[in-house]
Amino acid sequence: MDLSIQIVSDTTALQFTVSNRGSLQIILNRYMYLTHHKAHGGRKRRWRCIDYRRLHCPAFVDTDGDSVVKRKYMHSHPFHDIKILKKIQRNLVYSSTAKALSILNATQKHDGNTCNEDNIMDESD
Ligand SMILES: [Zn+2]
Repeated sequence: MDLSIQIVSDTTALQFTVSNRGSLQIILNRYMYLTHHKAHGGRKRRWRCIDYRRLHCPAFVDTDGDSVVKRKYMHSHPFHDIKILKKIQRNLVYSSTAKALSILNATQKHDGNTCNEDNIMDESD
């Protein structure tokens, strides 16, 4: 089965997913990003490429709500298609932050301490 057609290639189409460790991630233009920093109660966020630490990839994206407001730097590596396809196959891809967060809240076991969300961790399977 060819799932590649399900990957949105429109550069402005933002999708959301959750990492294996339970933090919010975005999928944009065939790349995946982790939350790096947030402001205004989480409405504005900066996202770093998931290969930021492993490959020192400099790419990042800023969002406001569910919209991309800024993108900067080129990725230093190929698309994350395989990782994205795994998320699609596991039904872990959502069209809004609210939906992804509701899934996260339903699965998170700790309460009142969300600081781990800002840690950049290896997400290798
Ligand atoms: Zn990258």
